[in-house]
Amino acid sequence: MKTTCVNTDIIDDRKAVIQPLNKFWYQSKVAALDMLRLDLLHPLLSGNKWFKLRLNAMFAKDHDYKTLVTFGGGYSNHLIATAFAARKWGLKSVGIVRGNYETLTPTLQECVNENMELIFTTREEYKNKDNPDWVYNLAGRFEDIYIIPEGGANEKGRAGAGLMDRFIKNTYSHIVLSVGSGTTLIGLRDKLPVSQYIMGFVPMKEGKYMGKYISSIVQPPKNKNWELFDEWHFGGFAKWNKDLIVFMNEFYEENKIPLDAIYTAKMMYGLQQMLLDNHFSSCDKILCIHTGGLQGNSIMPGLIY
Ligand SMILES: *Cc1c(COP(=O)(O)O)cnc(C)c1O
Repeated sequence: MKTTCVNTDIIDDRKAVIQPLNKFWYQSKVAALDMLRLDLLHPLLSGNKWFKLRLNAMFAKDHDYKTLVTFGGGYSNHLIATAFAARKWGLKSVGIVRGNYETLTPTLQECVNENMELIFTTREEYKNKDNPDWVYNLAGRFEDIYIIPEGGANEKGRAGAGLMDRFIKNTYSHIVLSVGSGTTLIGLRDKLPVSQYIMGFVPMKEGKYMGKYISSIVQPPKNKNWELFDEWHFGGFAKWNKDLIVFMNEFYEENKIPLDAIYTAKMMYGLQQMLLDNHFSSCDKILCIHTGGLQGNSIMPGLIY
């Protein structure tokens, strides 16, 4: 019998181009401001989610697990990415959802379309997501389950995120990214030269609390030259206002790049404020990572894209 190989090219990494932003937008305050377009990899399996999932899914496949089980809210980019990747890899998928949705959100509908089984939990119950007994109780009836934590936040998720380093030249002095679970920041901090300063924009209120968790995982010689910024949360995670929509439309007009409202728009809004406040030197070379998430824009009012 021949072994079937794991197909690792469901995504073509060459689609991730580096696009310089319009100098008018950043008023030439720095020597270079470029964006790594991981959003172009795939509309559902967006940028960093693909990297955080790939080593997990390969491990599951290689060890003959049959079902991926993971977690997320009703608009979760991670849930839909997992549903899509699992189907592509011939695995079943189960999504444990925070909240009881009588009417499915577009994201959850898309998960169902990708054959994901959804299990709804109350917000209170969902807090048990890191307790394996609770998870087995809910999802143990599915065949040979492999559990991926929320946000892909495990060792394989971090190592996978580190693989994004292949796109990042060491001529960049600053790397700008958005922080949810912190997995992407941790994975990249471990892989990139410590001389490259990583700026993590957190779209949550008081988001700097994430720093403690990140510090507890990044290995000592690498645990420096990164910083979190949490001023631009617009009221909290998944909250937005008219200013943010106006900003997203202007950003699109000037750079021809669509941003998502949850993560990348808040990051670029904050970065622009810092540029205008002369936070940077004119020699700095900045690479912003577009981590995707555009599927969530389907419910946003007033976007021109
Ligand atoms: C999930 C996500 C993030 C956060 O990534 P973490 O690795 O969880 O910190 C950032 N941007 C987008 C668009 C995402 O979907």
